[in-house]
Amino acid sequence: MEKHISVCPYCGSGCKFNLLVENDKVVGVEPLNGVTNQGELCLKGWYGFDFINDTKILTPRLKQPMLRERRDQPFRAVSWDEAISYTAKRLSEIKAKHGPDSIMMTGSSRGTGNESNYVAQKFARAVIGTNNIDCCARVCHGPSVAGLMVTLGNGAMSNSICEIENTDCILCFGYNAADSHPIVARRIIKAKEKGAKIIVCDPRYIETARIADQWLQLKNGSNMALVNAFANVLINEGLYDRAYVARNTEGFDEYKKIVAKYTPEYVEEITGLKASEIREAMRTYAKAKTATILWGMGVTQWGQAVDVVKGLSGLALLTGNLGKPNVGVGPVRGQNNVQGACDMGALPNVFPGYQPVADAAARDKFAKAWGVPSLPEKVGMAITDVPHAAEEGKLKCMYIFGEDPAQTEPDLDTVRKGFEALDFIIVQDIFMTKTAMFADVVLPATSWGEHDGVFSSADRGFQRFYKAVNAKGDVKHDWEIHGLIATAMGYPMKYTSTEEIWNELISLCPIYKGATYEKLAGLGYVQWPCPDVEHPGTPWLYEGNQFQTKSGKGLLFAAEWRPPLEKVDAEYPLGLCTVREVGHYSCRSMTGNCNALATLADEPGYVTINPKDAAEVGVKDQELVWVQSRRGKVIARASVTERTNVGAVYMTYQWWIGACNELTVHHVDPISKTPEYKFSAVRLETIADQ
Ligand code: SF4
Repeated sequence: MEKHISVCPYCGSGCKFNLLVENDKVVGVEPLNGVTNQGELCLKGWYGFDFINDTKILTPRLKQPMLRERRDQPFRAVSWDEAISYTAKRLSEIKAKHGPDSIMMTGSSRGTGNESNYVAQKFARAVIGTNNIDCCARVCHGPSVAGLMVTLGNGAMSNSICEIENTDCILCFGYNAADSHPIVARRIIKAKEKGAKIIVCDPRYIETARIADQWLQLKNGSNMALVNAFANVLINEGLYDRAYVARNTEGFDEYKKIVAKYTPEYVEEITGLKASEIREAMRTYAKAKTATILWGMGVTQWGQAVDVVKGLSGLALLTGNLGKPNVGVGPVRGQNNVQGACDMGALPNVFPGYQPVADAAARDKFAKAWGVPSLPEKVGMAITDVPHAAEEGKLKCMYIFGEDPAQTEPDLDTVRKGFEALDFIIVQDIFMTKTAMFADVVLPATSWGEHDGVFSSADRGFQRFYKAVNAKGDVKHDWEIHGLIATAMGYPMKYTSTEEIWNELISLCPIYKGATYEKLAGLGYVQWPCPDVEHPGTPWLYEGNQFQTKSGKGLLFAAEWRPPLEKVDAEYPLGLCTVREVGHYSCRSMTGNCNALATLADEPGYVTINPKDAAEVGVKDQELVWVQSRRGKVIARASVTERTNVGAVYMTYQWWIGACNELTVHHVDPISKTPEYKFSAVRLETIADQ
């Protein structure tokens, strides 16, 4: 049996294991003593490998290029030569007729790797001539990046996954670690065992709430009010570190003025919490010698998410919980390489290494390296802008690489109308996803397990993963496909290995320069910034409390609370919140094709509801029901549970039957453009009512 080192392709925990291979087929995994997982894996790590083997449970692997000249025609299999020349010709025509900004591309936060994302964004910028490239960070931790960039100067986790177990207090805010990152949840349990205080802010009785010292069951949509009240307590009770604030922060007076109104008593009505609970939480947090704030989609998938992120970083600044080990702010990134897609510049405003496209020196540097006279300055389009831009005729083409927006974006009817309005859609993937069904050209790529590369885990850690088996179909590496199209469009791009791509990209990014392939070999783990080869990497940021803002100080920022956009009423009395399913991942094209995981949970999706609400609707546990919003209606199985709070229902978003994004509202944070997946007004009806 052969063994090949790999990194789990699912969440951002970065778990390392061997892929076990017999006769060129992956047959199992063996955990390794990786830096973040220490020989442990969750069920997706153990059982999430066999989609590579084309199980055909949900959908078959793509094995040859396909195209169709008209969308009312079926796809026909074509040679790579025909697929590449047709795609290059259509892209060139659209660029010439409508301009480079009429074309939108995506990076991929999944199993393809950093090198492919680097090549994709280079294709967008140097070949097409647009900054219209985005990735799924837009719909998950975009607000964390946008908020922390302003307050601290760096959008990533300040400290490491490993440090979580050594902190004295963890404030888990809108973060269900057990379902999102089980290996991070393990660190939280270890911290508890070592005596840490755990405070959970979540409307649901999530797993971490079970071990928490305090569970603050706030009302859905009241995050900003609670964070302001936390700051109010820290200031008014004199719990904050005056010397630290005076030395290392700015904006205190304005901040104090805004949070003054948000006394714990004032927010009781908004949050549903007792003032005493809020005070107790902040007394615990402030008293701890070291404290860490972890957050997830419960913070970021709201229309006021960026403000809340800034507010959470303010709590760490007030108490001096930054710039040393075992403290900090932790936006724990979701998909296994969403950190990497951002690191590589698959974002509309930055080149790789977070170098702004608005910076003339950065543009000149990349233009020179890529051999083009100039690069576009205008910040590109966000992926959530696509449906409306397409319907308005501003966007003509989309090149979608390793993403499935027809399953994962909000208000799917609007997404479909946007796709229908586009002249040309290219989908590059390993499966025939829902999005691929809208395509004009489908380009089949190699899968994780069939190629080499580097992933970035949630705490900025670069890790190498290796090819384990040969691809079985007529498929190509993602970076190779982008290179062939670029070359056919008159821009020769002929990489021969991921190492060649990696060497190019680290040479252009000062913060990655020392993270060489040699250092990352085997179980190597290097957290950026790593400015030179002698540098070991940076487990925790802001040494000496030097923040990466213009002034070098951390910004204290507060904003007035805004309620969610949609209101519940007599017709739609419940607030729908979308959440994670531990056994499945993202659009489910990978985990839905894994035997064990598909057996554990399969369609239709479920909707969890409190027994009180279920009794009012007349819904019994496990009964099939309609869930309807102002935008659509889907079937789901009711799961009646006390863990769900009264007035809210929860659904996971990966199911084809019961696709909850048929229901969600297209309302976005004004800064990060991240959708408010966490609140859409719905009603439930039993099937017999129809
Ligand atoms: Fe680790 Fe996440 Fe993979 Fe589970 S899904 S094995 S926690 S990386």
